[in-house]
Amino acid sequence: MSTPSGIAALKHLDLDGHDLPPSPAPSSPNNGRKYALATELVYTDSGDQYNASSVPIYQSATFKGGPGQEYDYTRSGNPTRTALERHMAKIMNANRALVVSSGMGACDVITRILKPGDEVVTGDDLYGGTNRLLTYLKTHGGITVKHVDTTKLDVVKAALSAKTTMVLLETPTNPLIKIVDISGISSAAHEASPECIVAVDNTMMSPYLQNPLDLGADVTYESGTKYLSGHHDLMAGIIGINRAELGERFYFMINSTGCGLAPFDSWLLLRGVKTLAVRMEKQQTNAMAIANFLESRGFKVRYPGLKSHSQYALHDSQARGAGAVLSFETGSVALSERIVESTKLFGISVSFGCVNSLISMPCRMSHASIDPATRKERSLPEDIIRLCVGIEDLTDLVDDLSQALVRAGAVRLTGDSFVALDAEDVEGQTGRTTQVVDEP
Ligand SMILES: *Cc1c(COP(=O)(O)O)cnc(C)c1O
Repeated sequence: MSTPSGIAALKHLDLDGHDLPPSPAPSSPNNGRKYALATELVYTDSGDQYNASSVPIYQSATFKGGPGQEYDYTRSGNPTRTALERHMAKIMNANRALVVSSGMGACDVITRILKPGDEVVTGDDLYGGTNRLLTYLKTHGGITVKHVDTTKLDVVKAALSAKTTMVLLETPTNPLIKIVDISGISSAAHEASPECIVAVDNTMMSPYLQNPLDLGADVTYESGTKYLSGHHDLMAGIIGINRAELGERFYFMINSTGCGLAPFDSWLLLRGVKTLAVRMEKQQTNAMAIANFLESRGFKVRYPGLKSHSQYALHDSQARGAGAVLSFETGSVALSERIVESTKLFGISVSFGCVNSLISMPCRMSHASIDPATRKERSLPEDIIRLCVGIEDLTDLVDDLSQALVRAGAVRLTGDSFVALDAEDVEGQTGRTTQVVDEP
C-alpha cells in the first residue's frame, strides 16, 4: 500500500510539511505484512500531548505565532483536518488526501483545474449534482462535455482524443447500476492524451470495496456524506491522489476558495470512518439477500452482486464487493409509488450509505433535476425504485418489504407464503387482494 512516501514518514512530515505522527504513517506490523483495511480504519495515533484516544477538535480559526509555524489559519490548514486527511490517505491507498465540505465540493475542486476550451469525456448516467455542475461548466466555462455510454470501452475510445483533458467516471452508476471499466478507460485515456486526468467518483463503493488509484485513475473522490461517515450527520467530500503536483493544484483551490472541511466535521468523519468495515460488511450481506428476495419474486433487479447482472464479471474484477445500493423495476409508476409509501423501516429519503435503510424513486427525487426527456434518452425507467440497505436485522427488513409489496398489490399473501406476481401479472390481474390503479 502506498502511504505517504517513505521519506516523509521517516521525517514525520506529511506533504503539507506538518509534523504530525502517524495516523497515516505506515502502521504495518514488524514482520512486514501490512494490516488489513479493517485494522487500518480503527488504528489512529494522533501524537497528542495527552495521548488522547480521540483526535482533539481544534475549534480555532487562527493559531498564534509568527511566520513559518505549522498552522496559522484554518482555511489553509487545521490539525484536526490534517489528522483526517492523513488517515484517509492511508485508507484510500493514496499519497495524499484532501477533505472538503461536500462530495460536490470535491467535484468542484477537481473540475476547477479545467480551462476554457478543455474537453471532458464522461458518462450518461451520472449523479444528478455532477451532471448539473458539468452543465454549468459547459454553458459558463467554455468547456466541452461529451456524455457517452461509459460501459462500452469502444464508445469511450471513440470519444477520446489528444484534446481530452479530463475523464470523469462513476461506477457503479446509480440508480441504473451500470459498471464502468476503470482500468481499461484509464489506459485508453492516457494513451489518447498522456496529460489527461482520469477522475473516478468512488462514492457507491467506498475505499473499503474499490480503489480507483490502484486501477490506473489519477484522482479518486467521493462523498464522505455517504458510507465514510455512515450516519447522515455530516457532509464531506474526499479527494485522493498519488501525484504530488496534482495534490498541490487541488490544495491551491481549497485554500483559495475556503472549502476545506471544518474541524468539528473532520472529527465526526474520523469517528464515523472507524466503523466503515463492519457497516459495509453488514449492509452488503443484507443487500445481497434482499436482491435475491426481489429477484425470486420476479422483479427486474439491478445489483452487481447478482450473477444475472450483465457486468457481474467486470465489477467483480475491480471491486471487492457489490455494495449496498440496488434498484428494481415494478412495471408501473403508480405501483412503485405505493411500494415506496408502504415501507416503514425503509425510510423515504435521498442519499445512501447510512446505517438505516432507505427507499426512493430516483425519477421523483435525486434525479428529478434531470428533465424527463433526458431521463428517457438515458433509459432511466420512471418506475425504478432504489433501495439503500442498512444494518438492521435482515428478517425485519425482508418483512417490511414483503408487507409493502402486499399492501401495494405487487404480490399476494396466501396462507403463510407470498405468491409472486410479476409486474405484468399485476397489471393484468383480476381479483387481487389489493386493487392496482393504473397510471393515468
Ligand atoms: C452524494 C453523491 C455525490 C455528492 O456528494 P455530496 O456530499 O452530497 O455533495 C457525488 N457523487 C455521488 C455518486 C453521490 O452519491
